[in-house]
Amino acid sequence: MRIVNARWLDPQGSWIDGLIDVVQGRLRLLPGALAQAGPGDLDAAGQLILPGFVDPHVHLREPGQAYKEGIANGTRAALAGGVTTLLDMPNNAPPSSTARRLDAKRERFRRKSATHWGLFMQATPRHSDPALAARIAPGICGLKVYMAKSSAHPGVNDPGQLEALFRAWPVVAIHAEDDTCFCEGPYDMRRIAHHVHRPRGSIRGALSKIEYALRALPPVERPRVVILHAATIDEVAWLTRMKADGFDVYGETCPHYLLFTHEDQLARGGWLKCNPPIRSAMDRAALQEGLVSGAIDFLATDHAPHAPAENALPDTPPSGIAGIEWLWPLLLHARDAGWVGDAQLTRIACAGATRCYRIADRDGIRDGNSADLVLVQRAPDEPKAPVITRAGLDPFADVPLAWRVRATLVSGAVAYLNGHFTGARGAQEVFTP
Ligand SMILES: [Zn+2]
Repeated sequence: MRIVNARWLDPQGSWIDGLIDVVQGRLRLLPGALAQAGPGDLDAAGQLILPGFVDPHVHLREPGQAYKEGIANGTRAALAGGVTTLLDMPNNAPPSSTARRLDAKRERFRRKSATHWGLFMQATPRHSDPALAARIAPGICGLKVYMAKSSAHPGVNDPGQLEALFRAWPVVAIHAEDDTCFCEGPYDMRRIAHHVHRPRGSIRGALSKIEYALRALPPVERPRVVILHAATIDEVAWLTRMKADGFDVYGETCPHYLLFTHEDQLARGGWLKCNPPIRSAMDRAALQEGLVSGAIDFLATDHAPHAPAENALPDTPPSGIAGIEWLWPLLLHARDAGWVGDAQLTRIACAGATRCYRIADRDGIRDGNSADLVLVQRAPDEPKAPVITRAGLDPFADVPLAWRVRATLVSGAVAYLNGHFTGARGAQEVFTP
């Protein structure tokens, strides 16, 4: 299969005209080549070609809560947003905290996933066993530590427990909110604002404990640490300082932290309630700057859908924003707004995450890489496609997204084309045990 009249983004941020040949699911780039579209070719005239987005933080809610999304529906929503690889979080019901549960989840993805995928394991204190880590780590993205409770397991926020986990695992991805700092008592959104109930101090406290545990270990025993969904200026400052000090730390943020403030959350209620909470305009500006400076390495959706009736609860809506089906248009919006340049797009969309989690062949449009591509077109006046996620609502409806995803290719197979899913198979796990 060939893509003719192609204009693609190279990893340095230049736009290259030519022809893209797909050979056995891999890219062969022919800059400057011209060809007429023949049978089976894709004609990309008038469109831009981007690398498939690697969304390293999603919750497809399967097993246990598939009514909220599920693997089949969630990966279709991903294709519509230009996502070709996603990494699924382990706070399922039951949590993916044992080898047996991971294998069962892997089998579900094999049967249902329309995108490439990778899995995390959820940490409990018993995961500090080095033999367990040595057995499991090669087949997953990393260990996920929740410092705030997010499933049947309690939060892990004792510095000694963190240190033991850090010693055992090579890559540790952390939800850095220390729930021992949250306001006490049952939560009710009408009584206390979400960002007040989970105060900024819970993030500062979590970062202090992480740093304490890292510094307690000799450098060779320290893992790579990923600060997930950075939401504040505090995380940007911490990441900047720790990177300058030579620590192997990565930072992730999400579109909703770049676009909204807690005032928007208060106005929209459960639809913009997420963990960690969206904060101030100052935090938003710091995150936008961190994306360019490199303090923040990559963007993730933290796609976390709930049923519409749950989001609409006036008192105790669950936390989570469903954003995966607008991901590439959101990053292009940030680019059009001048927050990021073309030179940063490949890092933010895929290369930052693939370097962090050691995923091969998906770090941008290069010869020999997996042919995971997205064709987009500027069409600001065209209505957006109908919502696919089971959350049933577009949280970015008020954001003027100018770009539309026309086609998404997974390993060279057209999986999404002009609003339709072809059912193409070819998705694979990015870590093969
Ligand atoms: Zn999450």
